[in-house]
Amino acid sequence: NQSKIAFIGLGNMGAPMALNLLKAGYPITVFDLSPSALKTLADAGALAASNARQAIEGADIVISMLPASRHVESLYLGDEGILAHIANGALIIDCSTIAPQSAKKVAQAAAARGLAMVDAPVSGGTAGAAAGTLTFIVGGTTDDLERARPVLNAMGKNIFHAGEHGAGQTAKICNNMLLGILMAGTAEALALGVANGLDPKVLSDIMSKSSGRNWALELYNPYPGVMENAPASRGYTGGFGVDLMLKDLGLATEAALASQASIPLGEAVRNLYGIHSKAGAGGKDFSSILELLQKKE
Ligand code: NAD
Repeated sequence: NQSKIAFIGLGNMGAPMALNLLKAGYPITVFDLSPSALKTLADAGALAASNARQAIEGADIVISMLPASRHVESLYLGDEGILAHIANGALIIDCSTIAPQSAKKVAQAAAARGLAMVDAPVSGGTAGAAAGTLTFIVGGTTDDLERARPVLNAMGKNIFHAGEHGAGQTAKICNNMLLGILMAGTAEALALGVANGLDPKVLSDIMSKSSGRNWALELYNPYPGVMENAPASRGYTGGFGVDLMLKDLGLATEAALASQASIPLGEAVRNLYGIHSKAGAGGKDFSSILELLQKKE
């Protein structure tokens, strides 16, 4: 007697998350603009819908995992406007990383229709999504979080209640600003070591057991060949895109402007990612920031 789930957005994160819901036995209907993404899930046993409206028909829970605010607003409120068609009593869980104001706006529109919604952005990367060990950072009411919990448990390991609507997004934005700083700093240190004759693997081992240790270094090493499963070792493909990181750093800047907070390192890294994106790396994994800092052969 499982809840019927609609899952919209089957990219690098959405696809493995939806696969874990299937594994947990949930009946799930999926939609993505990309036919190949849709096919992967259909092959695994999900029902493929031909549009978002069809995907949400009769769903008890609607999950979205889209790139940015404009996609989420367009899906629920704009052109596609599925909010008007979601079944009464359904719960909406948006896992995309978007502006807190955007999350609040959609949650308010949902509430006006009598629908519950939580923002539940995630951390843990594509590896965490595949392993079902994501961290969910939830904004919304305690009751709605409790309704979402069984479904989130099927995709993740840690569930945090950050606060009211939008608070999940604010916490996620702070985390990703720090991640961007750590990734750029890690890449900078590795590039410096290699330029001075060190082996990147040896230097990584040393720093992992020293005071420079961090997630980017230990679990997502930006130097090709150091970590077999990291995007760096497969041509910076299939991870967390440079343009998505740039979006998150832009959200950090907006949050800083709104609160008159100072984020000098966050701003520096946003500019680094902006330069990297403009040079053509927007679609690569964000650890490719190493290529901007590396001494060319
Ligand atoms: P992605 O670009 O790989 O996937 C996005 C998917 O959404 C694509 O398949 C695209 O076709 C689909 N899409 C876009 N608009 C759509 C619409 N209107 N209807 C249906 N499908 C639509 O992105 P991703 O890496 O999966 O990231 C998704 C979100 O999760 C982003 O907000 C990102 O910042 C966040 N995030 C990503 C990671 C990561 O490691 N990749 C980690 C944590 C959070």
